[in-house]
Amino acid sequence: MADLLLGKPLARRVRQSLKEEIAASSARPPGLTVIMVGENPASEVYVGSKERACAKAGIVSRVIRMPDDTPEKTVLDTIAGLNADSSVDGILCQLPVPDHVSPSRIASAVDPDKDVDGFHPVNVGRLWRGEEGLFPCTPVGMMALLRENGISVEGKHAVIVGRSNIVGKPLAALLLRSNATVTMCHSRTADLPGVCRRADILVAAVGKPRFMDRTFVKEGAVLLDVGITRSDDGLSGDFDFEDVEGVAGAITPVPGGVGPLTIAFLLENTVRSWRTRTG
Ligand code: NAP
Repeated sequence: MADLLLGKPLARRVRQSLKEEIAASSARPPGLTVIMVGENPASEVYVGSKERACAKAGIVSRVIRMPDDTPEKTVLDTIAGLNADSSVDGILCQLPVPDHVSPSRIASAVDPDKDVDGFHPVNVGRLWRGEEGLFPCTPVGMMALLRENGISVEGKHAVIVGRSNIVGKPLAALLLRSNATVTMCHSRTADLPGVCRRADILVAAVGKPRFMDRTFVKEGAVLLDVGITRSDDGLSGDFDFEDVEGVAGAITPVPGGVGPLTIAFLLENTVRSWRTRTG
């Protein structure tokens, strides 16, 4: 039976340690501002979780809600104001945004040193060049989970299915920085199961429930399941958990695996930004 790689205890420890650091500091508290454009029930849930997590850690959070028809320029001007506000350490714009607002122009408008989502091209460049910067929270959390569980990636073959800018690509860069050999897969990859079966570390970031069964998995491989799909049966990951757990060496369950790490490492990015700003 595969070992379970649980994100919850790690997320709890990260959040507790940030809370203690903030409480012990004589500086002003860290500040995170979230911009929401338009109404989206899923975004409301995510933003609510971020607000609660900030409050528990001692981070001052603010949500700026803008109606669906807000011109892109207004969003960009709001970001410019937050860039100039010295009480704000982290800025993020909750995705998705309405079609007339460009996520990439929004990402490029945020001060790279307040870019706690790690989406600004400068941070993308820093990530690939091996420099310090703010990097996307989910992949950063996944690397921490591997470290926590004593799983070294050096010299291992990591295969990532899914090439989003939020998960797949930044995770590839982080794995490469840690000396893994990385293969990226996507919807046009030929013989996907065959490529995946060569993986020591196999990452599923597709968003299709139970998409990958044991025919994708090498005996003893470490499986990281990023996919989350909500249905009447609850939450499902991209791996067919019951089918793969007898073959894999270790696996992140859904829920309770990768999911809890994202907010914990968003708080960590906010505190890192705050540390540099408050000394
Ligand atoms: P995304 O932007 O939805 O992209 C999905 C990726 O899967 C694309 O690269 C796509 O390939 C690939 N794909 C689709 N069908 C495929 C197929 N049949 N074979 C191989 N590859 C296929 O990805 P995302 O934003 O990273 O989200 C992926 C999943 O992770 C979602 O379930 C999301 O909810 C979840 N997620 C969870 C967290 C968390 O746990 N905190 C954070 C972020 C995302 P193409 O590029 O060729 O289209």
